[in-house]
Amino acid sequence: MLEFLYPKEYLSSVLEITPEKLKKLGINTIIFDIDNTLVPYWIKVPTPELEKYFITLRESGITPAVLSNSREERSKVFCAGLEIPYVYRAGKPGVGGMDRLLEKLGRKPEECAIAGDQIFTDVWVGNRSGVYSFLIKQVDPKDELITAPKRPLERLIVRHYCKKYNKKYL
Ligand SMILES: [Mg+2]
Repeated sequence: MLEFLYPKEYLSSVLEITPEKLKKLGINTIIFDIDNTLVPYWIKVPTPELEKYFITLRESGITPAVLSNSREERSKVFCAGLEIPYVYRAGKPGVGGMDRLLEKLGRKPEECAIAGDQIFTDVWVGNRSGVYSFLIKQVDPKDELITAPKRPLERLIVRHYCKKYNKKYL
């Protein structure tokens, strides 16, 4: 019943999404949420480890991109260094932002995956759009005010998902 909210995979970190894994799935583009997926919300730019990861993805023929519900400044500053394509104020789980990003990238949904820390935004928009969904354990326990109230219900859904698919709750 809750299938539409379940991720295809549930991982501890985006770093587990390797080029090899994506290629096996026939995916050439990985779309990231920023806040609490890549970095905590108060960190403005990618860590050196993340920069290395994005470069590795690119060198392997995978396009990294960003789909964020935050205002423009957040994505602009975060993506500037490596010129990562982005769409801001994406309105996830609405599909409008995802459509705009896919058009910008010239990709079909089935060539793409999304990685995010929230069921009700990132996973849901992926599933609605036909984009492969990775749920990522939030990088920091501290949430923005707008996100915090959604967490208890999300955790409940993740626990159901873990029980059903015999996965470890992260
Ligand atoms: Mg997030």
